[in-house]
Amino acid sequence: LFITVEGSEGVGKSTCISFITNWLHANGLPCIATREPGGTPFAETIRNLLLAPQQEPVTDLTELLLMFAARAQHLEQVIKPAMAEQKIVVCDRFTDATYAYQGGGRGGDFLQISQLEQLVQGSLRPHATLLLDMPVADALKRAAKRGALDRIESQTIDFFERVRQAYLERAKQYPEQFYLIDASQPLAQVQQQVEQVLAKVVKQ
Ligand code: C5P
Repeated sequence: LFITVEGSEGVGKSTCISFITNWLHANGLPCIATREPGGTPFAETIRNLLLAPQQEPVTDLTELLLMFAARAQHLEQVIKPAMAEQKIVVCDRFTDATYAYQGGGRGGDFLQISQLEQLVQGSLRPHATLLLDMPVADALKRAAKRGALDRIESQTIDFFERVRQAYLERAKQYPEQFYLIDASQPLAQVQQQVEQVLAKVVKQ
């Protein structure tokens, strides 16, 4: 099983991932938690490149290709081997983030993204995606509390509005994959909803 957690900045993905892995452990289900961009030493090096301030403008295509380069490495080194061992893979962001950020946020070509998706992943897609959704302004307030923003986080509110809309669009397009979670609810309610999704997904 391959489960991904998605959402814009400050929606509570990290807290949600810890909750998921704790729940899986408590239910005796072997799992690993990983993240994108990153998840292997080399892919984390690509992540650092992507997130650090740069002396020159990073083109949208460069950013897109680096996201998929990191993903190619992550898939071969971590995701596929874990799935082959029957472990549940819980991933903090995956290709839906590319559609949302490089597609929606940056205005990239969705067809180009889907071609890269096909090239890098073949038929591999997440079995379930939990999309944590909440109004952008509130989420950014939460994210700002964490401290300095990285290169990508230093965007306008419009950018994150586009990211959010692109995520919601993906959820509408792939209703069998996506579970929409209202992340503006109190934590206990978010977790209750997440738990219901997990119970359903692990039974499939
Ligand atoms: O999820 P996390 O906060 O660790 O992501 C790190 C940064 O990478 C964030 O600024 C996120 O918006 C950005 N990102 C991106 N495109 C992706 C995945 C992450 O711009 N496909």
